[in-house]
Amino acid sequence: MHQECIVPSCGLKYSVKEARTACDRGHLLDIRYAEPPAAKLKEVFLERRNHRGNIFNESGVWRYRELLNFTGVDTEEYESYRKLLVSLDGGEGHTKPYKMSKVAKEYTDSNSESLYLQPEGLNPSGSFKDNGICTGLTAAKMLGVRKMICASTGNTSASLAMYAANEGLEARVYVPKGQIAPGKLAQAFQFGAEIVQVEGDFDAALETVLSIAKNEGAYVMNSINPFRLEGQKTVIFRALEYFDWNVPDWIVWPGGNLGNSAAFGKGLSELYDWGFIKKKPRVAVVNAEGANTLYMLHNGLYDGRRLVWNSGRYDEALIQDYYSYLKESSFKAETVASAIKIMKPVNLPKCLRTLEQFNGVVTQVSDSEMLDAMAIVGMNGFDCEPASGATVAGIKTLVEKGVIAKDDMVLGILTGRLKDPDLIAKYHLKEGNRFAKPPRVHAE
Ligand SMILES: *Cc1c(COP(=O)(O)O)cnc(C)c1O
Ligand SMILES: [Zn+2]
Repeated sequence: MHQECIVPSCGLKYSVKEARTACDRGHLLDIRYAEPPAAKLKEVFLERRNHRGNIFNESGVWRYRELLNFTGVDTEEYESYRKLLVSLDGGEGHTKPYKMSKVAKEYTDSNSESLYLQPEGLNPSGSFKDNGICTGLTAAKMLGVRKMICASTGNTSASLAMYAANEGLEARVYVPKGQIAPGKLAQAFQFGAEIVQVEGDFDAALETVLSIAKNEGAYVMNSINPFRLEGQKTVIFRALEYFDWNVPDWIVWPGGNLGNSAAFGKGLSELYDWGFIKKKPRVAVVNAEGANTLYMLHNGLYDGRRLVWNSGRYDEALIQDYYSYLKESSFKAETVASAIKIMKPVNLPKCLRTLEQFNGVVTQVSDSEMLDAMAIVGMNGFDCEPASGATVAGIKTLVEKGVIAKDDMVLGILTGRLKDPDLIAKYHLKEGNRFAKPPRVHAE
């Protein structure tokens, strides 16, 4: 296996033993495997669910270790892989799709049999990020780095801090001051990370981190790290395994820095190429209205030019023009969904590739649509944060537009749990909100 530039006309290759986040010409990198894994592994994965105390079988990430074996360990030799693979004692990745009948009735106006939502908030630190941080830290171990660094809208820092504490590694996290959910900041404190507050937004924090990493030799744990994305593929593996490797018509998720958009697409196309699945799903990425770079560019709403992958010849100049326009107009992202409040998504090219490979669409939703969606997810006994509400609100929008048919089988990813209690209290205290249930006052 090796690291390979995603742009076919560039195609630079590097060993997996190099700590990189870009090729020498500045493009994103993929991890590529030489041998396709055996299709009979489906049985092995099921077998491991009875883990018998092996934490790497218990882990919903490492259970699929043959499909992300960038360390090259012997995946059947416990002594070979236990020294390298990072896991929170098997705790990550215990998620699966659920039918949420109230969401289905209210939002797709259909039988509740065909809508599934997968709450990745059930991961140990409360978001899908754990799927990727455990593989990112495994790469760090393989490379012999001990200093980790990330920029974060909150959940990456929570997850990195948690794993670093558990592994005895150093974590320094850069967060946009005053712009992350209190519950997420609390986790970074709780797990003893070194916290740096950045004056500015997430995009500024990430730029800071990328330059510091270069100067200090710290390893970046953002989704620009190709090893982190390998772990996030397992979100999709678990869902498909649950469906007995039958493929839904649609898979829908929110778009922030577009790491999931990159990882899910890579995982799906590998499964397809390796013969694990016979059909390709369609995909939909949901932006917040107030932070909608992907929506604007992919749909040709800025300057009329549609930004597409175009077999790797995507229009870099269009992206740069748009970023200049944002700067000149002093554009400020505005949304309650702080996890996707990102204007310069670092994985944009990889997301374009996913959209091309899976006949994808990009939609956007408002804050109030996200908050309504969170409330109705809650009525099914699950909590999620606004960025995850975006998934549900996006499904509603696409069903209303007739893009998703009413009886299509749909899998939506709920990316994280609610970590801003004030936000939900405010929603329910306001009578006008669609699903608000304000408390009554008890009179003697
Ligand atoms: C990080 C995060 C996102 C954004 O995901 P990307 O992969 O960066 O697009 C969405 N929702 C939650 C809860 C997150 O923590
Ligand atoms: Zn390149």
